[in-house]
Amino acid sequence: MNDYDLLVVGSANADLVIGVERRPDAGETVLGSDLVVHPGGKGANQAVAAARLGARTALLARVGDDAHGRLLLDSQREAGVDTVGVLVGGAPTGVALITVDPSGDNSIVVSPGANGRLTPDDVRAAGSLFHAARVVSTQLEIPLETVVEVARSLAPDSRFVLNPSPPRPLPGEVLAACDPLIVNEHEAKVILGEAARAGEEPEDWARLLLAKGPRSVVVTLGGEGALVASSDGVLRIPSVKVRAVDTTGAGDSFTAALAWRLGLGESLAEAAAYAARVGAATVTREGAQVSFPTAGEVAAL
Ligand code: ATP
Repeated sequence: MNDYDLLVVGSANADLVIGVERRPDAGETVLGSDLVVHPGGKGANQAVAAARLGARTALLARVGDDAHGRLLLDSQREAGVDTVGVLVGGAPTGVALITVDPSGDNSIVVSPGANGRLTPDDVRAAGSLFHAARVVSTQLEIPLETVVEVARSLAPDSRFVLNPSPPRPLPGEVLAACDPLIVNEHEAKVILGEAARAGEEPEDWARLLLAKGPRSVVVTLGGEGALVASSDGVLRIPSVKVRAVDTTGAGDSFTAALAWRLGLGESLAEAAAYAARVGAATVTREGAQVSFPTAGEVAAL
């Protein structure tokens, strides 16, 4: 009996957002709008997205013993995420300092803080969470050696889903555990490195990625939907047509939904079709965590 549909291992950040007329040059000060603070980070986002859909979800992460850490814990609990695996202390909570200019472009400085202190030992100490989870998902906003330990800690009957964001080359051991590896076009090219030159279309990258060892691959294509690739071939999953207002968090909610539905026993294509509905619902609202839909909202789309 699994206690969790999904265990998310990953980052938790406070997003500090200020609107500016223009960015300051070196040595210059500019005035901005009132500060807005949101809970964020890919791990925290995925956990909230899954829980909001109704998945029994746990988060393994590290936050600081500070106000931002409490904000993150509160937002997880409010969404229904089990926070027994959220470790507190060791460094300040991770922060993303975001300035937004009038054209809507972001400039972001990230201080990983406590996310950078989530260690392989922390993963080993959370063995009971791994044994209780049908699916484990992670991203790359935590140290790579911690992600390697996650891949080594999977229970024999649980499934591993990785969104390698921000992207960097991955050890074969991690790639071989992925079922699926979920990438957007930029991430696909970074993971492929030189090999990306052998292909021009997303279908090519999906096949090239599959050849690197994952049991399956998903390439997300924004408003164009997604591709799923496995030994059965490559299949296009159409997007749901919506009026996109803000695409922030679409990748996180897509990944969380896909991971959850795979754990329920759906095929990769079925799970991706559901995840595409979740991603589409997410882009119809502003913000990240606040824009994630409930299962009822997905059904109504
Ligand atoms: P981000 O980094 O912005 O969170 P991403 O690049 O990782 O996103 P996307 O490919 O933008 O991921 O989005 C994930 C999925 O969400 C897509 O595969 C698609 O199914 C859905 N989606 C995203 N944007 C749209 C859109 N404009 N209309 C409909 N569906 C969308």
